[in-house]
Amino acid sequence: MGDLSAHFSRSELQCRCCGRLQINSRLLDGLERLRDLAGTPVVVHAGYRCERHNQEVGGVPQSEHVRGLAADVALPGVSLQRMYELALAVPEFCGGWNRSL
Ligand SMILES: [Zn+2]
Repeated sequence: MGDLSAHFSRSELQCRCCGRLQINSRLLDGLERLRDLAGTPVVVHAGYRCERHNQEVGGVPQSEHVRGLAADVALPGVSLQRMYELALAVPEFCGGWNRSL
């Protein structure tokens, strides 16, 4: 159980350095859908980053992480090829939706 959505928690998606969290709701919906499609828990390695933390990890300026539009995730036991196919099957991750925000 998550405190942000059905399966995701603040602690997974908040900035690793300061705990701030600004995450787009469609990203969260997409992560939930990805979890459903994969049938396996989604492990979040990185979610929201504040500007400072983004610089510390060498992220590009205006990174989608800073804007709350990206998360780095892993699906244990799922191949990269399969992950790619799953991501394409998630409408929230496709169609350039971040440009319309
Ligand atoms: Zn931070």
